[in-house]
Amino acid sequence: MSTQPQPEQTQPDQPEPEQPEPAQPEPAQQAAPRVVVVGGGPGGYEAALVAAQLGAQVTVVEKAGLGGSAVLTDVVPSKTLIATAEVMSLVDDSVELGLRFPGGTGSATETAGSVSVDLGRVNERVRRLARAQSEDVYVRLEKEGVRLLDGFGRLVGQQQVHVDLADGGVEELGADVVLLATGARPRTLPGAEPDGERILSWTQLYDLTELPERLIVVGSGVTGAEFASAYDALGADVVLVSSRDRVLPGEDADAAEVIEDVFRRRGMTVMSRSRAASVTRTEAGVTVRLDDGREVLGSHCLVAVGSIPNTAGIGLEEGGVRTTESGHIETDRVSRTSARGVYAAGDVTGVLPLASVAAMQGRIAMWHALGDAVRPLDLRTVSANIFTAPEIATVGWTQAQIESGEAQGVIVKLPLAGNPRAKMQGIHDGFVKLFCRTGSGTVIGGVVVAPRASELIFPVALAVEHRLTVDDVAHAFTVYPSLSGSIAEAARRLHRKA
Ligand SMILES: Cc1cc2nc3c(=O)[nH]c(=O)nc-3n(C[C@H](O)[C@H](O)[C@H](O)COP(=O)(O)OP(=O)(O)OC[C@H]3O[C@@H](n4cnc5c(N)ncnc54)[C@H](O)[C@@H]3O)c2cc1C
Repeated sequence: MSTQPQPEQTQPDQPEPEQPEPAQPEPAQQAAPRVVVVGGGPGGYEAALVAAQLGAQVTVVEKAGLGGSAVLTDVVPSKTLIATAEVMSLVDDSVELGLRFPGGTGSATETAGSVSVDLGRVNERVRRLARAQSEDVYVRLEKEGVRLLDGFGRLVGQQQVHVDLADGGVEELGADVVLLATGARPRTLPGAEPDGERILSWTQLYDLTELPERLIVVGSGVTGAEFASAYDALGADVVLVSSRDRVLPGEDADAAEVIEDVFRRRGMTVMSRSRAASVTRTEAGVTVRLDDGREVLGSHCLVAVGSIPNTAGIGLEEGGVRTTESGHIETDRVSRTSARGVYAAGDVTGVLPLASVAAMQGRIAMWHALGDAVRPLDLRTVSANIFTAPEIATVGWTQAQIESGEAQGVIVKLPLAGNPRAKMQGIHDGFVKLFCRTGSGTVIGGVVVAPRASELIFPVALAVEHRLTVDDVAHAFTVYPSLSGSIAEAARRLHRKA
């Protein structure tokens, strides 16, 4: 929305006024509000763009590279790597569709040995893409007139940010509004500290030049599951060590079951209820010791056991900014912290660790701080995706919340195996699940487990956002044959159940 006054339109059929209006005195020029953003990830740079659009004088302080971890080490690199893994999964599954590969055995399930991945080339591409994306963010911010400072920022009061510049200098920035968007970093396990060669955090994977022979992934949350899935598809022997009963704890239980089943069928070793106590180097690789005394041997280990917020040394005490028990910055639904004029966005708030949520929190902060129209953050409408093969996409209320009575809803689940397009494409795993409000039939959530579920969840997200009923969804045409046909079919099945 523009803050510039719009010129008045002259009505074509009205006569021009004979006398010009007396000149009005110029309104006193108000100084543009000064906004300082600490952290140039999606929480920070999206906020900076909104603030610039609203006429503020904006400075972004970033210590490692614009785009943040999202662009340089997390989202962009992992999804670029997964793009190659996805092609490998397709190749694997294509034998059933009649493809044969030179050197393959010609059996109905065998491509092994005939198609392989050059991880050095893959990672070169990953790093190039991440750098280019970071450069794009830089260029865009500069174009919008945002001042960019390469350095480490910290609050020295509610209206002042001290910057230790990368070139050795310092700068003090006065601010009317401060946004803290410093993100998070990988959590390490004592006794399993990454060495960057064999024991790795997810930020160190992209220096590998050869596919690990046997990769042990410690942690079966979203990050662990995505990398286990990707490296398995790329051809590595993968062992997934999970401290819980099943992979992806906290996600839709049916979806997690499908993924675990696919992992095992593809030959991955999934060790449930197995807690890693330490990871050490051996001459040839690594040993993961479990707390029950068992040992797992591998060539490499990826430790993916969550992340911790970057709050150290950023002046939270000096600025009067409160943190939660988990150490995240406490915010409300318009991204305000406990300190007047200080906002926070993204992973440092622990609200929901997604780039899309970080970006929205940052935008909301600026809309609120600079007096634009603003709607508080609503997590109920966030779509999320787990980029395993197949993918898991979700939006809205969950089945667990419906079953616990937290939400009043009706559930329908359709396996994709019955979908004509899925049959043609050789898709055997996955489903569509739709939830609607009891009585009204309003769509309140859904889960899609399918290849490219991230693209298929959008109609469900639209329905949740705009409170469409299952009948609204059921009456829209879908292409025949299509996977999205199953979403409409699920809506039709809910017609009388609601
Ligand atoms: C492996 C992995 C894959 C992921 N994939 C997805 C995905 O597919 N989709 C999705 O939506 N989310 C994904 N996420 C989550 C996503 O990466 C984060 O939610 C997102 O990066 C959060 O953005 P942010 O702006 O809060 O922080 P970040 O992106 O971490 O950016 C914070 C920035 O602040 C800088 N900084 C920190 N302290 C200071 C300081 N004092 N001064 C100056 N600069 C500072 C850091 O250098 C960093 O650049 C993934 C996460 C991981 C770990």
